[in-house]
Amino acid sequence: MANISKLISGFRVFKSTTFERQKDIIRHLIEQGHKPTTMVISCAEIRMAPAEIFATNPGELYVINNIGGLVPKYDKHGTHGILSAIEYAVTILEVENIIILGHAKCEGIKMMMSDKFSSGKNLSESMKTWLSVAQDAKEAVKSQLGDKSEEEQLKACEHESIVISLRNLIEYPYVAKRIQENKLNIFGWHFNAERGALLGFNVDNGFFEPIS
Ligand SMILES: [Zn+2]
Repeated sequence: MANISKLISGFRVFKSTTFERQKDIIRHLIEQGHKPTTMVISCAEIRMAPAEIFATNPGELYVINNIGGLVPKYDKHGTHGILSAIEYAVTILEVENIIILGHAKCEGIKMMMSDKFSSGKNLSESMKTWLSVAQDAKEAVKSQLGDKSEEEQLKACEHESIVISLRNLIEYPYVAKRIQENKLNIFGWHFNAERGALLGFNVDNGFFEPIS
C-alpha cells in the first residue's frame, strides 16, 4: 500500500499549496460552468500531464487519454469513448483547438512496432484492434526506414501515428464542418519529456518542427 499512502500525503500537499492558490479560480469555474477552449488527445503514459506541459489553469483544457494518443477512423456505430468525447468537445463545448499530443519513448507505439504485435501472440484482440489504428504508420516506417536503428524507427512511427490521427480526425463530419467554418484548428504535436522539447507537424512541408 506504499503507493497509495504516497498519493494520500501528496493530496495533503496539493490541498495546502496548489488548491489554496487556485481555489478562487476553481470556484469561479464551477459557478460559470466548464468551458475549455482546447481539447488535448494524448497518450495515457505521457509521463507529464498536458496541464503541466502547457502551464494552463484548471479547466482550460479538455483532455482525453488513450494508448498511443490515437484517433481512430470515424464510425458512428459501436461504443467508442473517444468518438463521443471528440463529438462532445466539438459540438457541445465548441472547442477552438484540438491538439493530438504524441510523445517520445511511447510504449504503445513501441508495442505496435514489435514482433509480438506482428505475430499476434500474447496480445489481446482488443489491444491489437486498438493499436491497429496506427498500423499504416508502422508499415510506412518499416518500408522507408527499415534499415535505420530501432530508436529512429520508433521516433518516425510516433510522428507518423500523429499524422494518421490528424487524417482520421478531419474525417469526423462535425470536425470537418467546424474547420470549414474557421471555428476549429487542429494540431499534431510531439513532446519529448527527456529534453523538454515540443515539435509540431507542419502540414505545408510534412515535417515535425520545433514549436518553441
Ligand atoms: Zn505513449
